Amino acid sequence: MRHPTRKRRQVLVQKLLGRLPHRQQELIGAARVLGNRRRVSVYLVGGPVRDLILRRASADLDLTVVGDGIAYAKALAAEPGTRATIHPRFGTAALILRDGLRLDVATARRERYVHPAALPQVFPGTIRDDLFRRDFTINAMAVRVAPKGEELLDLFGGLTDLKRGFLRVLHDESYRDDPTRIFRGSRYAARYRLRFSPRDRRLIRNVLAEKVLQRLSRERLFREVKRVFDEATPEAALRILQDRGVLKALDPALVVDQGAFAQMRSVRRAWQRYNRRGISSTPPLWRVYLLVLLRSVPARVRRRVGEHLGLKGPPLDALMTELRDFAFLQEQLEEGSLRASRLRYLLDRASADLRILLWASGARRVRHSVERYLTRLASVRPALTGQDLKKFGFPPGPTYRRILDRLLEGRMEGRLKSREDEVAFLRRHFGRPR
Ligand code: ATP
Ligand code: MG
Repeated sequence: MRHPTRKRRQVLVQKLLGRLPHRQQELIGAARVLGNRRRVSVYLVGGPVRDLILRRASADLDLTVVGDGIAYAKALAAEPGTRATIHPRFGTAALILRDGLRLDVATARRERYVHPAALPQVFPGTIRDDLFRRDFTINAMAVRVAPKGEELLDLFGGLTDLKRGFLRVLHDESYRDDPTRIFRGSRYAARYRLRFSPRDRRLIRNVLAEKVLQRLSRERLFREVKRVFDEATPEAALRILQDRGVLKALDPALVVDQGAFAQMRSVRRAWQRYNRRGISSTPPLWRVYLLVLLRSVPARVRRRVGEHLGLKGPPLDALMTELRDFAFLQEQLEEGSLRASRLRYLLDRASADLRILLWASGARRVRHSVERYLTRLASVRPALTGQDLKKFGFPPGPTYRRILDRLLEGRMEGRLKSREDEVAFLRRHFGRPR
């Protein structure tokens, strides 16, 4: 790499910051003024710097302050309409501005890992300490915002790694200290089309062999799994986790095949259709992906695999129940030629997760049935209501449900087309209204 002059570097950094949306630039301007006034160094760090270099939008801005970050954040939050959540123990603050813009402010810190996979001890530190505690070189760059004279701080070669497409941790103990970085790396690799450096591959292999993943708490493990599913294309990240031996290290039976990856893509399509139609009960997508993943392993080991992904208790039970329901529904819907009322009955009782999964599960007949349900059957209602039944003099009780179901059935099968039809039907079969 050439070493451009200081002046030239400044121009480059200004160009970089110039890529930010106008509002974020204003915010950086305000952060600079305040930094100068309070005489503290302020840096834009991590994700936003990486995303600027990649010309990608970054929703949140992360600032690191060398010194009292909390006092600085409070002063920055003085602008009217700003909401600030302060975490004194961590020296961090999350600001949400009047127009919804988000800004995280942290105090520069140094971390020390006493035990592998446990949370670190935290001390105040320099900007170098703060960058050195980070996961990958591409996430360990900073742009100085204050004092004056913008500068890109790239102490570990993040820029070159981004250009060459490599993910690289900052030191050999990194994955051992914090194995969640393996998941983080796989997400970045998928999202930005990068690959782990050869050294990183070796480090990951060693750490997996030491069973370090098994030391993570369930909560931390599952949070990482969920983050994978929150990516735009989780199947890409999962494939990388599989290639790196991570899935197998979690559970030897956790093998995801092409079919499951394809199903994840179709789940996403189904889910987007659902959303476009404005169907209100769209479940979180990560949950449906998780069902696909669990379905791809043999039924008898599913619960164990779920546990090895960090699940337990009622949430795991709920997934297991859904998987059993799925098998039953799929069988029923594959029969074809289901009566409309039966289809309505079955799918009304299925969770939205399962409807999406059924739609995405491949079999044409099943997909058609779900479509038919969504487009035609789900919204069908009889014209008469319980109120009407009461007016007609039916004694209140469980028969109401039965009568209304019969009306619904008639509607769906096209035998009943109007309120008058329904009244006539009641008179014929139930003797009221007289
Ligand atoms: P994303 O777009 O996924 O939010 P990000 O880089 O902003 O990407 P965050 O999880 O928001 O990622 O974390 C912010 C920054 O904090 C990262 O860029 C990284 O520098 C640092 N970081 C987060 N988690 C870790 C970790 N487990 N180990 C080391 N550094 C971390
Ligand atoms: Mg972030």
